[in-house]
Amino acid sequence: GLAVRLRAVTKIYHSGVTALGPLDLEVAKGQFVSLLGPSGCGKSTALRLIAGLAAPSAGRVDVSHRASKADGCHPIGFVFQEPTLMPWASVRENVRLPLKLAHVTATEADRRIAEALALVDLCEFADAYPRELSGGMKMRVSLARALVTDPDILLLDEPFAALDEITRFRLNNDLLALWRKLHKTIIFVTHSVFESVYLSQRVIVMTARPGRLAREFRIATVEPRG
Ligand code: ADP
Ligand code: ADP
Repeated sequence: GLAVRLRAVTKIYHSGVTALGPLDLEVAKGQFVSLLGPSGCGKSTALRLIAGLAAPSAGRVDVSHRASKADGCHPIGFVFQEPTLMPWASVRENVRLPLKLAHVTATEADRRIAEALALVDLCEFADAYPRELSGGMKMRVSLARALVTDPDILLLDEPFAALDEITRFRLNNDLLALWRKLHKTIIFVTHSVFESVYLSQRVIVMTARPGRLAREFRIATVEPRG
């Protein structure tokens, strides 16, 4: 089935700028898709529309939800380029935030936080503070925070762009391993052709502003395996 479907979606900001579209996009459940395109073509806008953080000016955005997901947590996890961690809170408390917002019980939250930190190999850093961590580790905390709600869909907006090449490559491999293990639908925005080809099954290339689908490359037909 489909996880995400955009039908002739356009976004015009209040400034009058047409930032996106019309864009048609279908993403199957469990697929890893990259959005590639020049700066300002509307990639972040597309993610915000999918996440429900902004409304389309025209067209339809449909996101499928797991019927069994009745824990009150949002079905979409979002990771931004800037590590948006709370500096005054420990790693554990940063990862707890989305569970607090969803009123998950403390015992269940503790269990899930431990699980999420294990996924990104940060168990030993649960009590550390963001300032004590490297850039790569901060990004792994952001990943854990996005995964702790067990979302169906993970949206990543140039998450590794600010990291050095080696750390970036390591995180690419970490993300691939997570995808294979967790079967999430992933939509990954990047400027990097290498990253898009290395990571994803489909690369959607967008035109310059306003972004539309210019080309699509299918990289592989493999499905995620646990
Ligand atoms: P990308 O992620 O591909 O760089 P964005 O989605 O961030 O592109 O932006 C697309 C266009 O919309 C750009 O011209 C940008 O300046 C404009 N834009 C983005 N957000 C807003 C906003 N909140 N208000 C007005 N214009 C915006
Ligand atoms: P990353 O590739 O995640 O950015 P680094 O290359 O900076 O990590 O660090 C490599 C390893 O060193 C980390 O995975 C971690 O185990 C350890 N490390 C990094 N920063 C710290 C720190 N502030 N305190 C303790 N150990 C650290």
